[in-house]
Amino acid sequence: MAYIEPAPIKDKENPLESMMERFNLAAEKLGLSDEVYNVLKNPAKQVIVSLPITMDNGKIHVFEGIRVIHSNILGPAKGGIRFAPDVHLDEVKALAAWMTWKCAVVDIPYGGGKGGVRCNPREMSKGEIERLVRAYTLAMLDVFGPDKDIPAPDMGTGPREMAWLMDEYSKAHGMTVNAVVTGKPLVLGGSLGRTEATGRGVMVSALAAMQKLKINPFQATCAVQGFGNVGSWAAQLLEERGLKIVAISDISGAYHNENGINILEAIAYRDSNNGTLEGFTGAEKLSDPMDLLELEVDVLVPAAVEDVITIKNAEKIKAKLIVEGANGPTSAKADAIINEKGIMAVPDILANAGGVTVSYFEWVQNRLGYKWTAERVNRRSDRIMKDAFDHVYEASVKYNVPMRIAAYIVAIDKVAKTYTFRGGF
Ligand code: NAD
Repeated sequence: MAYIEPAPIKDKENPLESMMERFNLAAEKLGLSDEVYNVLKNPAKQVIVSLPITMDNGKIHVFEGIRVIHSNILGPAKGGIRFAPDVHLDEVKALAAWMTWKCAVVDIPYGGGKGGVRCNPREMSKGEIERLVRAYTLAMLDVFGPDKDIPAPDMGTGPREMAWLMDEYSKAHGMTVNAVVTGKPLVLGGSLGRTEATGRGVMVSALAAMQKLKINPFQATCAVQGFGNVGSWAAQLLEERGLKIVAISDISGAYHNENGINILEAIAYRDSNNGTLEGFTGAEKLSDPMDLLELEVDVLVPAAVEDVITIKNAEKIKAKLIVEGANGPTSAKADAIINEKGIMAVPDILANAGGVTVSYFEWVQNRLGYKWTAERVNRRSDRIMKDAFDHVYEASVKYNVPMRIAAYIVAIDKVAKTYTFRGGF
């Protein structure tokens, strides 16, 4: 395997700075004291480990593994593990803090954490990845735990990796501990409803926002960027609720049809076509896929990657409502333009929190030794998402701030109050 240089993050906005910009605005509105500000600003724990792995060619390669616990004030830390070539401590710190705010916004009893290993899983064999997951788990044995820190999948990892993690952790403890990790395969204690949970939460947030903006779903149009787990579920569920999905996109390009795209057909096409929309004939391919973001639609759902709405294109966005399925799709610098234009943006830490909510349900079911029906999972997560939207909306009215800052205010207020009751040293 080729040595992978740590990727610089120079061409993106630094995610830690982006997060801190919003955090600072919310802290100021909230009148947060300097003492509590400093507690919430700094991650509680940062662990960096070296993982020597014997590769298939017999050579030993040393990988760097990171786990950051931003906060365990509300409960055990929760957050995914990213396997990617550009994993970077600053990025992991930002993502861990985001998890703290996300869990607090939806009022689930978790703090925030995030992990990562700098590697390129696309260039690694299944055996190499398995050894890396097991080594990472053993190195983090004192960090992880159902009452301490509960990892989950993120970019480059999935149910398969979570199964190895659970197995390694369980072996080290001499018993099965399935509540140590979420996002597991169903047979190992995964939850029904987890696959569609994030897209479903996007749909609930979008409908709640449309109600406030007096947009009738049956007369509304929508464009969805990204047609993976989050984007395709959001598109399908929004279509079921009456919206006309006029554009979808993935890594192969963007596809536009003014009369509406049949989402079930698009999903079936993607699934029969190696997971991409390349060659999809139910719509016309746009010459520039980024044009999807600037279409004349009521609702825009960025559900692919970060930093797609930036100062370069924010001025040209025509949607009345943006619902952030992806993490960090809007750069902090673009926020002001979006607000100036009067566009409501339901922020990532609220709109895509359906995923962590159902992860929490997975952990609850594991601890109960019981399995809920999909109907129960969906009903409870819909209620949590709708309540969270209403709290954030109320805060946006009370503090006269956009929904993004309101979401940070709700989250920071909850963590700060809890910290004040618990006290420090
Ligand atoms: P995924 O890998 O299933 O899908 C990503 C999709 O985006 C794919 O269709 C891919 O082709 C497309 N894509 C990649 N680059 C693109 C580009 N430049 N333009 C257009 N499309 C592009 O990932 P996912 O799980 O759906 O996650 C999408 C986003 O949602 C990420 O930001 C992720 O962090 C966030 N998120 C996911 C979950 C979850 O439960 N899966 C939860 C919270 C947040």
